[in-house]
Amino acid sequence: MRSIALLLPLMVLTACQSSERAARSTASGYTALGGWQKRAERFNSLIALPTFETTPAAIRQSVSNATARADAALDRIGALDPKRVSFRETVGALDDLSYGAGATANRLALIKETSPDPAVRGAATEGTKVLQEWAVGIEYRPDVYRSIRAYADTRPGLAGEDRKLFEETLRDYRRAGMDLPAERRAEVEKLRKELTRLTTDFQSNVTAAKRPVRFTAAELEGVPEDFLKQPGVKTGDDEYTVMANITWHYTTVMENAKQEATRLKLEIARANLAREENVPLLQKMLALRSAIAQKLGYRSWADYQIEPKMAKTAATAREFLEKLKTGLQPKFEAELNECRALKARDTGNPIAKIQSWDWRYYNNQLKKEKYSVDSEQLRAFFPYDKVLEGMFRIYQRIFGLNIEPIDAPYKWVEDLRLYLVSDAATAEPMGLFYLDMFPREGKYNHFAEFGISEGRRLPGGKYQRPVVALVCNFPSPRPGQPSLLTHRDVETLFHEFGHAMHAILTRANYGRFSGTSVPGDFVEAPSQMLENWVWDKRVLDSFAANYKNPAEKIPKAVLDKLKEAKLATMGIYYRRQLAFALFDLVLHAAMPEGQTPDPVKVSNDILADVFLPEPENTAFVAYFGHLVEYDAGYYGYAWADAIAADMATVFEKSPDGFFDTSAGKRLREEIYAVGDSRDVNVSIEKFLGRPRSIKPFLKNLGINTDTASK
Ligand SMILES: [Zn+2]
Repeated sequence: MRSIALLLPLMVLTACQSSERAARSTASGYTALGGWQKRAERFNSLIALPTFETTPAAIRQSVSNATARADAALDRIGALDPKRVSFRETVGALDDLSYGAGATANRLALIKETSPDPAVRGAATEGTKVLQEWAVGIEYRPDVYRSIRAYADTRPGLAGEDRKLFEETLRDYRRAGMDLPAERRAEVEKLRKELTRLTTDFQSNVTAAKRPVRFTAAELEGVPEDFLKQPGVKTGDDEYTVMANITWHYTTVMENAKQEATRLKLEIARANLAREENVPLLQKMLALRSAIAQKLGYRSWADYQIEPKMAKTAATAREFLEKLKTGLQPKFEAELNECRALKARDTGNPIAKIQSWDWRYYNNQLKKEKYSVDSEQLRAFFPYDKVLEGMFRIYQRIFGLNIEPIDAPYKWVEDLRLYLVSDAATAEPMGLFYLDMFPREGKYNHFAEFGISEGRRLPGGKYQRPVVALVCNFPSPRPGQPSLLTHRDVETLFHEFGHAMHAILTRANYGRFSGTSVPGDFVEAPSQMLENWVWDKRVLDSFAANYKNPAEKIPKAVLDKLKEAKLATMGIYYRRQLAFALFDLVLHAAMPEGQTPDPVKVSNDILADVFLPEPENTAFVAYFGHLVEYDAGYYGYAWADAIAADMATVFEKSPDGFFDTSAGKRLREEIYAVGDSRDVNVSIEKFLGRPRSIKPFLKNLGINTDTASK
């Protein structure tokens, strides 16, 4: 996952740490930053840590400084003489001021998730909101737009990254409606405000929806004892209350309850959550989205939403999903058949069918019966320190880097670590990263990479090298026992650190294009590709060993079993994903004026066609929260997965496999260094050395691509 502070392409401003302090020698054996800061001068670059706010007052001050500075910069753009406008003073200045405000936003986003002080976290949360609201107004300043427009009217002959920045700046104004006549723009603004209200309500209804479903012990046969003992679950002598809206309640019962009637009852409850409130709301939202898109000159909301993404049009996204749907058909059927056989055996009914309330249960049964792997037992092979060192060795090798610990001048927690990445051949400092890896009270509870200072060329010509942080929650070490990771944790670490590499190895000139600031349907792909590393025996053997007996490696049979288990239900998993992605696109597709689709019918029909039919008289779509943040964007998950599999083939086919240095160099140069400074479609093809294909993705899923569609 990659955390993004603001919706706008805003970045970071860094304040230098005092150099005496950074350069002081340490007893820890860590390198001091000062030497690297001197070294950076030779490369005309700057390497520096930001100053982190440590009190609520400092945070409030930073927020007001940031908005005042940016507002002053906007005023300067707005006051330009239209006859004398330059790239630097208009489009360039806009990127500069976004970077400045974004710097504060990035830092606060990190503080809000990591500060040990609840008051500081609260102030950072407030500050983030203030900055977000302020950022919305940037695009709507007519004086600023007039200056940008005046520059555009000079028809400047730009090339490369400058041209891309220029074109996308104008595109964003057009997308905001600034191109429209005043009256029409006012209409769009009015519709947008209404849409914001409705989407907020839709989300609140999803959050507020509650539905208790009561069962007897017999009805819950198969459900683990410790679930039944959970507070609030046992509500009577022989009465258990399952909340259909609490996802882990729902999945625990759906995966384990033997009785089909129990699963059906809970599925019906789940698929009717928020129905009365959200179905009419959704209908209005779809009509508003369609009207806004059409007023802005787009055929549909899907086309509007997808324009800045890699897919560019709804038709391209749709075609991809349809191809994948066809390609997955044989695997999907085979998996359903396997589940069907289990159900026939359980029920004694030879023509039993797998229903939408069955698949979780039989997937679970299949995994238990056929692919039992004790994942807990594998932890002994993955002590955290060894995994981290091993991963560093691999990334250093394939990307031609050195990674070394640095003495951190400021730490928000004691076990925080700071590292510097440099180029192995030239000793050019590339950037810094913090590792905040273990859980604690009040800390962000997922795994993510946070950009702090994004890379960019400063107005004076020096290159600002990036600073990022990984915020993770691996098991804490205990006295006498190191932190032991699961295989899944190791995969996550390789993934998140991939985002850090993407950010740190950037050479893009503008903050807007730097590092991981690539389209949302691509940003996960390079990191998803790196997940493949931890399924390779050679990679694992380079660092994974039993911490009690380092001579003992992970047996091949165990790894094979893990792979089989992972593959066993992928057809079902992806067909479900595709059903969501397809109804999301179809609901936002072009429609004749004044008409709106029936969201329940459209989504139920697609679920039945692409996945499994929901029970009669249910409205799954009413509780599908992704229609708010990922509207016309759900396709991006499978899209990025397919690109990741395609990109992995470059390493798989290289002489040295996942250790291949020339493939690594290509990834560094064609993907990481350029970021979004050129079209990612071009970058991917340059990295692949051929056009893209979904065959590797299908092949990974065990599908014979000679018979499946291309
Ligand atoms: Zn990610």
